[in-house]
Amino acid sequence: MNKNEPFTPESWLRKLQEEYNHLPDHYELSEEEFQAKLKEAKETMRGHNWRQRGQEIFCTSCPFSHGFFVSPDQQLVGIEIDMPVIKKIKEGK
Ligand SMILES: [Zn+2]
Repeated sequence: MNKNEPFTPESWLRKLQEEYNHLPDHYELSEEEFQAKLKEAKETMRGHNWRQRGQEIFCTSCPFSHGFFVSPDQQLVGIEIDMPVIKKIKEGK
């Protein structure tokens, strides 16, 4: 994974879909399938205790370490309805 690219369920799936589109059989996700996969990917972010250190968002509640990366201008501002809330930091601070 490219560390400079913000990781979100959306970016991950778009990348996955791009890769699929290059396969010989031109496998393509329909919008419906994409939304279903997106929901699935988002569910994996639910119910963890997320903390941020630099560009890394990591889980503090699981016995194994896992997390994802965001871009330098993104900040974890909290957890709402069990989901991490990531916002873009405004420039000029
Ligand atoms: Zn976890």
